[in-house]
Amino acid sequence: MSERKYCSLCGRSEEDAGILTPVSGGINVCQNCLNNAMKMAQQLTDMTRNSDNLSMFMSQTANTAAPAEKTADSNPEKEGEGENANPDAQNEKGQNVRFAGGFGLPHVGFLNMADLQNMMFGNPAAKKKDKDDRDKKSAIDIKNIPLPHKIKALLDEYVVGQEKAKKTMSVAVYNHYKRVASEIMKPEEFAEDLQDVEIEKSNVLLIGPTGCGKTYLVKTLAKLLDVPLAITDATSLTEAGYIGDDIESVVSKLLAAADNDVERAETGIIFIDEIDKIAKKKNSHSRDVSGESVQQGMLKLLEGAEVEVPVGANSKNAMVPLATVDTRNILFICGGAFPDLDEIIKQRLRKQTSIGFNAELKDSLDKRKDILEEVTVEDVKKFGMIPEFVGRLPVICTMQGLSDEMLVEILKEPKNALIKQYRKLLSMDEVDLVFADDALLEIAKKAQEKDTGARALRAIIEDIMLDIMYEIPKDENIGRVTITKDYLDKKGGPLIEMRTQ
Ligand code: ADP
Repeated sequence: MSERKYCSLCGRSEEDAGILTPVSGGINVCQNCLNNAMKMAQQLTDMTRNSDNLSMFMSQTANTAAPAEKTADSNPEKEGEGENANPDAQNEKGQNVRFAGGFGLPHVGFLNMADLQNMMFGNPAAKKKDKDDRDKKSAIDIKNIPLPHKIKALLDEYVVGQEKAKKTMSVAVYNHYKRVASEIMKPEEFAEDLQDVEIEKSNVLLIGPTGCGKTYLVKTLAKLLDVPLAITDATSLTEAGYIGDDIESVVSKLLAAADNDVERAETGIIFIDEIDKIAKKKNSHSRDVSGESVQQGMLKLLEGAEVEVPVGANSKNAMVPLATVDTRNILFICGGAFPDLDEIIKQRLRKQTSIGFNAELKDSLDKRKDILEEVTVEDVKKFGMIPEFVGRLPVICTMQGLSDEMLVEILKEPKNALIKQYRKLLSMDEVDLVFADDALLEIAKKAQEKDTGARALRAIIEDIMLDIMYEIPKDENIGRVTITKDYLDKKGGPLIEMRTQ
């Protein structure tokens, strides 16, 4: 049988009716019928406002619904099946398409009211069925969730340092997917006293300076666990109705990352970066509520809500089919640098010891590099996050600023380390690339000056490597290049060694 598609309303083939638009419920509609359906919906709204007499509406719209030149009767696939004589006929997909022939209007097809509503607003029954199917399929196999120490060991291959953060995240992710699994397990699988216990969601608040690897950690986690990930920036989120992405758009991104597979998206990860930028403004005399209202707007999403999102587009409009995504099992990770949070923590610690002016204590607090580890919910609230918001991010995970030594390690150790990438490129010209230790340290120091953590490394290395990548392949006799500190300081060239044979 051919793969030809037909408009589910007027029955014309794609060739006759032009491009068909898939609408929710898997039906296809031609532009003409879509326009008519929109008109009908508008009329319906107007008429239900003015009158209860819907039958009048039906008789009025019967003639406008599908002014098709060809009818469903002309559908070659249906010829001889005699389905169209039945006013309640179903199309191949089992959707009710009522043909006007049954009402004495030959060659004019129109949709019945229930179908129109289903088409415009989705079919709740179909959704429920979808959901039941999903529930069965989304059974996360508890045995397949990697144990926390295994997740951590995998992370170690990519993320340098940040031991506490890697451990916290491994446990949070493990617990999250266990919670998802617990929801589909039978109560009998638990001891009697645990059967009614609901495991709460373990969304994460990830705090650490710019470029310390927050996004990288989350990306690596999602890759290792093979779950879809959507990354967004809190500053781009606005309440619906304002310019910018509305809050739910992030779920749409996740759906796209899951190749529009709703079930996969529903157990994915959403990372919202720069979350500190939507803190309530401190010491502000004007009533600035924009950040606060975005936080408010996110509460439902973080906790678990059914969100209707456009499939394959990032804005809702009549032409785009919608899918319902339940965020209950989506892991939300909110990250931010939270500048000056360390000051808030220090202030609290000083107060707590009630010797606020003890110079020695002040000194030791100031020197502590890991002060962020002391963070509490109260500190985050003081920073400007609303209590309800912080309450929905029960796991607080902190990351450290990177030291010179960590930056050197980032350059050379991880699986995908920058230097390994350049070594691989030059190895294709049969040239061995070496970085002297003092050169690596120098690169780390230069990166520190930029104050953007490990992010600065790539630009610096690219700058250094440009001439090398340009000049070295010219000479086939070169066997090894060593990047020295002198070369970086522009006091000399790189060390070049020729091939021996
Ligand atoms: P953040 O989100 O904290 O601002 P990123 O995760 O975007 O920082 O880090 C920028 C880049 O620096 C990453 O893509 C990664 O290559 C590198 N990087 C940062 N921190 C680490 C780390 N701890 N281990 C390995 N690479 C890192």
